Amino acid sequence: MMMYFKKIILAATCMIPIQLLFAQLPQDSRRAGGIAVIPLSTGITQVSYEGKAVLISKENEQPYAVFGIPLSAQVGTLTLNTNKNPIQIEIKPYRYAEQRLNVKNKDYVNPNQEQLDRYAREAKEQNDIYSSFSQSSWTQFPNFIRPTSGKFSNSFGRKRFFNGEERAPHSGLDIPAPIGQKVVAPADGLVVGTGNYFFNGNTVLIDHGQGLISIFCHLSKINVEKGQHITQGEVLGLVGKTGRVTGPHLHWGMSLNNVRVDPQLFLK
Ligand SMILES: [Zn+2]
Repeated sequence: MMMYFKKIILAATCMIPIQLLFAQLPQDSRRAGGIAVIPLSTGITQVSYEGKAVLISKENEQPYAVFGIPLSAQVGTLTLNTNKNPIQIEIKPYRYAEQRLNVKNKDYVNPNQEQLDRYAREAKEQNDIYSSFSQSSWTQFPNFIRPTSGKFSNSFGRKRFFNGEERAPHSGLDIPAPIGQKVVAPADGLVVGTGNYFFNGNTVLIDHGQGLISIFCHLSKINVEKGQHITQGEVLGLVGKTGRVTGPHLHWGMSLNNVRVDPQLFLK
């Protein structure tokens, strides 16, 4: 369907480079932890997955659903509901690598009760943000830039073992960088959360609209406040090594419809 649609568009506007046609939308990658960019037929104005609203964006007058595929999604058919007929998409197989890390501070591997309670409070706070769905100020999907310079470790989705014990898969990607390097907003948005979290260290969360949320962790300094509007390229904080880390880096996460997806899919 996607290929078919692209072919029609390309045939109709063959003099315009492809980058201009699909400059803003994230890459379509139908795997667990990926994103499905689904052209919507006439009359579909609402899309949801398991009761949660899915982002809708326009590109050259064509509306698309931009759906975050859960890391737990099984290979095979997945169904989205709409205000008209349901949409079925095919989830393709994909194998994430394993990562074995050694953390010196054992509290980060086996937290005590007080730390677990703290983590539960923080997880709820973050989940409330991830599951929110604000109106977007844009109709065309925002263009994203890199939040900091440095080589991306291709680490999203990795199964992780801390000191040999299996923990949750990696929900973002890590960019190793020196302490104090600037971290900027990859797109315009509203700062919806800041704080010092047990695992994530000093953290900033930005709402870009329609359930599209970005998170920046392990900062040495936070430069913004909750409730503040931030524009693309504005400094939100500095790289650090706070929380559960093995060295200084930025952890950058992206969430769509309360599902953590691979941030690299937002960059061209
Ligand atoms: Zn990370």
